[in-house]
Amino acid sequence: MKEFDYVILGGGCAGLSLAYELDINNKIKNKSLAIVEIREEYKRDKTWSFWKVTDHNFDDCVIKSWKNFSINSKSESLEVINKEYPYQTIDSGLFYKKILDKLKQNKNIEFFKNTDQLNLDNSIIFNSIPGVENNKENLWQHFKGVEIETTKNIFDNEIFNLMDFDCDQRDNVHFFYTLPFAKNKALIETTWLSKMDDKSLKDYDEQLKKYINETLKIKNYKINYQEEGSIPLFYPPNKAEKNKINIGSAGGMTRLSTGYTFLNIQDHCKYINKNIEKIQNLKPYHIGKKYQFLDNIFLNVLKKHPEKMPNIFLNMFKVPSKTVIKFLSNKSNFIEDFVIVLKMPKWIFVKNIF
Ligand SMILES: Cc1cc2nc3c(=O)[nH]c(=O)nc-3n(C[C@H](O)[C@H](O)[C@H](O)COP(=O)(O)OP(=O)(O)OC[C@H]3O[C@@H](n4cnc5c(N)ncnc54)[C@H](O)[C@@H]3O)c2cc1C
Repeated sequence: MKEFDYVILGGGCAGLSLAYELDINNKIKNKSLAIVEIREEYKRDKTWSFWKVTDHNFDDCVIKSWKNFSINSKSESLEVINKEYPYQTIDSGLFYKKILDKLKQNKNIEFFKNTDQLNLDNSIIFNSIPGVENNKENLWQHFKGVEIETTKNIFDNEIFNLMDFDCDQRDNVHFFYTLPFAKNKALIETTWLSKMDDKSLKDYDEQLKKYINETLKIKNYKINYQEEGSIPLFYPPNKAEKNKINIGSAGGMTRLSTGYTFLNIQDHCKYINKNIEKIQNLKPYHIGKKYQFLDNIFLNVLKKHPEKMPNIFLNMFKVPSKTVIKFLSNKSNFIEDFVIVLKMPKWIFVKNIF
């Protein structure tokens, strides 16, 4: 059996981000690290986007960034400009390559497919493998995206569409999300917020085809890449233990109201790196109790009144762009929170506190 100072369970976004952060800060110079990852190969499987409200290590994996975005419903359309916090998109293929190339140079880091050969008794474990949760009341953000290339230049690649609610809602919350990487290339995603108990919502290919043909009026295109996934909009069942620290989605790094996780993972990694010597004695890191409280109310409203959500989202974006971006990226102050709360339908939200 082999023993390591640190063991990272799951070499995905959080596991690799942490290994990279520790490696570049020389924390694995005199220590050893095992990364346990089940996948056979690393290739582009996700497209991570977020407003860059803090620095991170992966600016060179950004394939596009925007200062403008739009959001629209059947009745209304908004354009939002923010020069201070660009919205960045990271190609996971570039991210994996950059990290793996760097980690390979460190002889103290080893990869394993499972824990069979490892003695974990004396290691500090960072776990990113999500536990199983069977509560059927839980909400998920589930989606499929296709990156298409068109024969003609069709897209305005200076502005992305964050949410287009002008589509079939089927008693849930549904929107399309379009990231134009170039004038002839865009990632188009159909996204649902639902309990994932209705299989009929998963006719993603039909939804995408209809949207591309009828709404975007694109007839000639080819699909370069596809991704499908679901993000849990509930706190993970994983419990922190003395020698086991949960990271990534398993560590509660997902913002429940939006599904944004990438930048929270990066902040958590910086925190772990800074406190690595005493990490076992610190309280579990979280993205902010106030956001947990507000997001739970938000999701209660969403469960009971899905039909109201397009307007609720649109209203949220009517406050100054900096305020809403900071709020959605968990960097807002009390006054900014208050400005957002004032935009919500008060009576419905008050009823759903309980
Ligand atoms: C398709 C997709 C797109 C997303 N887009 C965004 C976005 O735009 N912006 C954003 O902020 N967030 C986004 N998210 C949410 C979040 O950022 C990602 O899910 C992110 O990958 C979470 O990182 P993680 O390390 O927690 O999980 P993962 O990246 O999934 O890593 C977990 C790793 O554990 C491995 N594993 C699982 N079981 C085992 C096992 N038994 N033994 C060993 N290894 C195991 C998996 O193979 C995987 O590599 C997206 C999620 C998905 C699914």
